[in-house]
Amino acid sequence: MTSSDKPRQTVASAIGTHETSSGSTAGGKRRSTRTRKRSDIIAEEMKRWIVVDSKQPGDRLPQEHELAELFGASRWTIREALKSLEVQGLISVSSGASGGARIADVSLQNAVQLLANYFYFKPLSIQHIYSLRRVLEPMLAVEVVDHLTAEHLRELAENVEVTRVQPRTEEERREHRTAELEFHNILAGACPNLVLAFNCRFINGLLKDWVVFNRTYVKVGEQFTQGNLNCHQCLLEAFQRRDRDAVGRLMAEHMEEAARHTVAMKGEIEVKFLPN
Ligand SMILES: [Zn+2]
Repeated sequence: MTSSDKPRQTVASAIGTHETSSGSTAGGKRRSTRTRKRSDIIAEEMKRWIVVDSKQPGDRLPQEHELAELFGASRWTIREALKSLEVQGLISVSSGASGGARIADVSLQNAVQLLANYFYFKPLSIQHIYSLRRVLEPMLAVEVVDHLTAEHLRELAENVEVTRVQPRTEEERREHRTAELEFHNILAGACPNLVLAFNCRFINGLLKDWVVFNRTYVKVGEQFTQGNLNCHQCLLEAFQRRDRDAVGRLMAEHMEEAARHTVAMKGEIEVKFLPN
């Protein structure tokens, strides 16, 4: 028995019925609802199959008709299930003679974007974001102290140098803010706790793309960027000394100060879909 024989049994027993038609919707609305749900079930079965079969990013999936036979479903249902997996970023589908579906590595950007969509119509506030960031960032900073490599420390030092120049134009301010948040993304990149790292990166993405400052508060803006620079400089030195206590304390202070400045600058959430 080859590994690809497995899902046939699993799916047949899990779903209970074997689709024999070509997915015709002659039964009208009720039929199409049933078919849509069935494609969702098949998509879930495919996900389990991918895990059980230890498939890896880049691995090719069988052709549509083979999948149809494997999962006991019509080609139409398989096509719908594949579309669903593609939207979720789990597979990529290409056309042409050598085309077909392959397992994809879900990118961080894709995952962040899907999660951000959830908040699109929700009443998100700066205060809510910072109440979580105040907890997560010090936790992450302490966690990475022993995991920062010489390369990470070099990247952090370079980042601090980049943010040393006060931005003057709107574009420079945007780039400066992106660089400031990149300091935190570098730390997240070193974090062995992937759940913690993902949450911190997600919040950094929201702050970068969704939070708009009222730039009439020029003085506060300058204090904000200077304060961030000082905090990052002190944090860098504490990381270089591998001083966990100092790192935890400095990051907590940094988050308190950043929250204060953000509120003082009347930072507002301007919800938009995160760019790809
Ligand atoms: Zn910072």
